[in-house]
Amino acid sequence: MEKSHENEQPVKAFGWAARDTSGVLSPFNFSRRVTGEKDVQFKVMYCGICHSDLHQLKNEWSNSIYPMVPGHEVVGVVTEVGSKVDKFKIGDKVGVGCLVGSCRKCENCDNDLENYCPDQIMTYNGIYSDGTTTYGGYSDIMVTDEHYVVHWPENLPMEAAPLLCAGITTYSPLKYFGLDKPGMHIGVVGLGGLGHMAVKFAKAFGTKVTVISTSLSKKDEAIERLGADSFLVSRDPDQMQAAAGSLDGIIDTVSAIHPLLPLINLLKTHGKLVMVGAPEKPLELPVFPLLFGRKLVAGSAIGGIKETQEMVDFAAKHNITPDVEVVPMDYVNTALERLLKSDVKYRFVLDIGNTLNKC
Ligand SMILES: [Zn+2]
Ligand SMILES: [Zn+2]
Repeated sequence: MEKSHENEQPVKAFGWAARDTSGVLSPFNFSRRVTGEKDVQFKVMYCGICHSDLHQLKNEWSNSIYPMVPGHEVVGVVTEVGSKVDKFKIGDKVGVGCLVGSCRKCENCDNDLENYCPDQIMTYNGIYSDGTTTYGGYSDIMVTDEHYVVHWPENLPMEAAPLLCAGITTYSPLKYFGLDKPGMHIGVVGLGGLGHMAVKFAKAFGTKVTVISTSLSKKDEAIERLGADSFLVSRDPDQMQAAAGSLDGIIDTVSAIHPLLPLINLLKTHGKLVMVGAPEKPLELPVFPLLFGRKLVAGSAIGGIKETQEMVDFAAKHNITPDVEVVPMDYVNTALERLLKSDVKYRFVLDIGNTLNKC
């Protein structure tokens, strides 16, 4: 029998896939591997729609493999475990984020920084160690090495799946760069999927939070809905000047081209500007204002597995959840169109468990 997506692996699976750069998703029969001795098989209940799904569906990063089943904010319930799995049992709630593999022997992997492993394997649109394409959470089941699976806390709603990408992407730099100390003053640039999580975590750490946005229209939601302490319109030079030198750190979530100088000016001496958005083209970096203030511009990408577990435990303890709009599977193409227009507060989550029906 010729190998096809349906019989490449022994276990039947069903999801929604894009077939080409139109990025339009439709029902897709494929297959997954048998649960290996260190693998966990789980039924997907919820999967967030990340902005990077949109980029990869349309091959905007020029590395897309079709058919593509996206989804890297995946929460489900364990249905089978391998003979050597010790962290999980059938019935456990679990989460899988952006990674399903890494080399396990480099310096990064040794230090729980699988997210910086040069041989990391992405949850979808990647090539697994057995040579097959990885398929993500817009599907009925997943089979994942237990090392890349986190325990989903009992009191954390499964709809909070976007913690697994948007959450860890903002939690990790706040922790690593020491921007988690009570009384600090933290800026958050951009108020989308990432930005709204940055505000929530920074508040939970006991910092004062200022949201910086191009548009005054987001002021009320930043302060009243998300609990930010203040708001700055980045296009208003007077406001920005008045706030100069006031921030210990900034989490910049913007992925469009934007000027850095106004943000660097907001930092105190030793202030840190951390980029977590991914603009397609280089940004201009003014160096003088870095020198005179010993300021730092840095980047950060998701987080390691150990830290991801720590983050979901922290979120459960402090009742931190993303603001989500839960939608049925067959709404996915509309959701992607709306996401492109930023018409969502602040993350779509697919109700896979209840609405992914075989066609
Ligand atoms: Zn993501
Ligand atoms: Zn490694």
